[in-house]
Amino acid sequence: MVNLRIPGPTPVPPEVLQASAAPMMNHRGPEFAKILRAVTDGLNWVYGTDTDVLSLTTSGTGGLEAAVVNTLSPGDRVLSVSIGSFGDRFGQIAETYGAEVERYSLEWGEAADPAEIGRRLDADPSLKAVLVTHNETSTGVTNDLEAIAKEIRSRDRLSLVDGVSSISSIPCPVTRWGLDAVVSGSQKGWMAQPGLAFLWLSERGWAANAEAKMPRFYFDAVKTRESLSKGENAWTPAMGVYFAMNKAFEIMRAEGLEGIYTRHEAIAAYTRDRVKGLGLKLVPVDPARASNTVTAVWWPDGVDGSAIGKRAREEFGVVLGGGQGKLRGKIFRIGHMGYVSQEDVAQSLDVVEKLLNEAKVS
Ligand SMILES: *Cc1c(COP(=O)(O)O)cnc(C)c1O
Repeated sequence: MVNLRIPGPTPVPPEVLQASAAPMMNHRGPEFAKILRAVTDGLNWVYGTDTDVLSLTTSGTGGLEAAVVNTLSPGDRVLSVSIGSFGDRFGQIAETYGAEVERYSLEWGEAADPAEIGRRLDADPSLKAVLVTHNETSTGVTNDLEAIAKEIRSRDRLSLVDGVSSISSIPCPVTRWGLDAVVSGSQKGWMAQPGLAFLWLSERGWAANAEAKMPRFYFDAVKTRESLSKGENAWTPAMGVYFAMNKAFEIMRAEGLEGIYTRHEAIAAYTRDRVKGLGLKLVPVDPARASNTVTAVWWPDGVDGSAIGKRAREEFGVVLGGGQGKLRGKIFRIGHMGYVSQEDVAQSLDVVEKLLNEAKVS
């Protein structure tokens, strides 16, 4: 048995895998319309909204691109808050489509300071929107999105949020926090395969959409919303992933949102305790901002992390996440989101412990 501990794609429950293998049907027929409705209701439930979350056949990055092109125009000034590689990516997307991007970038391992975001918005009234990552998967840090949203909202700017590795595992009530464009992806905490990204727009987000001039066709939110109102997708969707998510929502509803969040909290706390017990150092600088969906850990000095990762995979079937970008070879990451139990993490850390001890001896 493989213990897949990368922070996405994550393991999928057997009954969800089975559901996803259902025969194809007419993607514009009544049977699929029911499934699309049920999945959308599930998304609305988790996002905490009564206006429909849109689903797009793409990966999380496609969802981020959709958030950008549906709310902004070339030449718009935006503040891109980055605490790691996914934050950098969000800013690059906006830049690619012609936004003027001001960067607020932090050392990897740190969380963004909400007050600094407020100061930057005050200093530059022409900043129209803020791009921010809720949970930075590359460093295992969760931003204080509620506080950040307050700074943005009180200055009447738009918030574009990457919630790919948070929503469904860490609370992110989009309406209560006053967010505007919020993205997630099926392969992270949603217990389903890669293939769908989700985009929710607030009323302000839709108003921005009406003015937004960035080019878009496949990701056009209006086309998507109009099709959804007819019980369809604009284009042929990843139907198997819808079948999967429909089943996954049964499981999620049975556990309940509070139950899901509490389980993630408990497993994350266990993970951090075990890691510290091994004498290892966490990447997050402020323990209070350590992520409940992924734990990032420095390899000790003098230890060949990639060799340990290779042995864990080949000899024990434990697949750890590596470091991205400038953290490659320096850290490992353990994903604990979606279909995960404490035993899954325990087994993977038992293997890390054993291999680290052997590395020390030799
Ligand atoms: C996984 C992830 C993405 C999207 O990645 P894709 O490979 O395009 O699905 C974006 N942001 C964060 C924070 C992620 O964890």
